[in-house]
Amino acid sequence: MSEDIHQRMRQDMSSRVAFDDARDAAYAYADAAPERNVFPTPEALAALAGFDESLPARPGDAIQIVRQLAELGSPATVSQIAGRYFGLVNGGVIPASLAVRWLTDFWDQNTPLYLSSPVASKLEEVTEGWLRQLFELPESSVAGFVSGSSLSIFCGLAAARQRNFARLGWDVNRRGLIDAPRLRIVASRQAHGTVSKAIALLGFGLDNVEWVEADQQGRIDSDAVPELDASCILLLQAGNVNTGAFDDFEALGRRANAAGAWVHVDGAFGLWAAAARDLKHLTRGIELADSWSFDGHKTLNTPYDCGVIMCRDRDALVNALHAAGAYITYSDKRDGMLYTPEMSRRARVIELWAALKYLGRSGLDEMVYGMHLRARQFARELEQQGFEILNDVVFNQVLVACDNDKLTVNTIERIQQSGECWVGGTTWQGRHVIRISVCSWATTEADVGRCVEAFVDARKKATEGA
Ligand SMILES: *Cc1c(COP(=O)(O)O)cnc(C)c1O
Repeated sequence: MSEDIHQRMRQDMSSRVAFDDARDAAYAYADAAPERNVFPTPEALAALAGFDESLPARPGDAIQIVRQLAELGSPATVSQIAGRYFGLVNGGVIPASLAVRWLTDFWDQNTPLYLSSPVASKLEEVTEGWLRQLFELPESSVAGFVSGSSLSIFCGLAAARQRNFARLGWDVNRRGLIDAPRLRIVASRQAHGTVSKAIALLGFGLDNVEWVEADQQGRIDSDAVPELDASCILLLQAGNVNTGAFDDFEALGRRANAAGAWVHVDGAFGLWAAAARDLKHLTRGIELADSWSFDGHKTLNTPYDCGVIMCRDRDALVNALHAAGAYITYSDKRDGMLYTPEMSRRARVIELWAALKYLGRSGLDEMVYGMHLRARQFARELEQQGFEILNDVVFNQVLVACDNDKLTVNTIERIQQSGECWVGGTTWQGRHVIRISVCSWATTEADVGRCVEAFVDARKKATEGA
């Protein structure tokens, strides 16, 4: 490294000007958020061409870099923090979580081991305990902090694979899948796409899955679940990604437990229903499962890159995921990498810890139930405006249709263009539908009212072919 670049970095670190600039730009962004277009304007998208530069030959200027990003980048974001984005299942961000993220970014911790970050190790331990308590999971349950549910589902299935094979006397880590005894995977046809991805990645083969039909609301048809045995992995869902529906964990959990089958619950956004007094019934029986995956970055509104795997059987999870190396020194404290596929990781648990501490049980109850109320308001008001609601709004998801598919598709396009709010489309029982996911603490009753107006206006334009 030349003296020049070293000096420059020292100077930038100590002068703090680039950081101050970034902070000012962040505040300006937050101030403008309530009134800006939810999706970027065509001008903002066109201006992204400003990033088409060749790889710089010489060092750049930190302040200029921050300014360019603020100028070209900020307007080309999808506005998630203002409460009128209802696509995917994207949450907003809890202030305390965002604040601690800033601080921890300066810490630049790597968190595989206690010895690489005692504070992250401690907060993983504390947060693991809080989550166990909150979801009323078995005392033996451990948590791994990963990037999101795609990975936490993978971890849950890896633990299940480990344990079920071990019971058959097969060490899958050493012997792999070739010539292995057969495990059975039982999953709902409504399982999330990331569940299918995990099944494929783990070598089970999607064609080998025993797929079970779902009912009108997207719940697995419990009566259609085949006879289970100790080789089975049963995949259940807390919160269908279209309807928000919950499977019958109690009945299926009992059956699985009696048969010695492993149950994994994909509760990416829906598991948080357990945190709201009046929605808790939706998750009845989850404690009968063996592993649970969920996100911080959806319903809980932490920043992104925050998912959790919890597993009743510590050994199954650790045996599936642990790594060894002469330079890796495990401690008698919590070493986070034992519970995750990654080794190097940022201290993402800290944002989760801060969100839980900031909200407390009552704040969490109010926030999660508030999302449910806003979803019901959407359904009620849209129905009054002549839209059809296709699901029972049990949680935060609303499926909406116009009189015919063509009108629905054109209405979605006009809603997206309006900039007032953003919703996506999906297909449900053979129809094109609008999918609303209420998942941000920031969404108010007034926001919902404003969005319903945008729906009505968009449908009018679509009808007129404008
Ligand atoms: C979002 C989601 C996932 C995938 O989670 P990521 O955090 O995006 O990886 C899995 N299952 C369900 C039900 C989801 O809603």
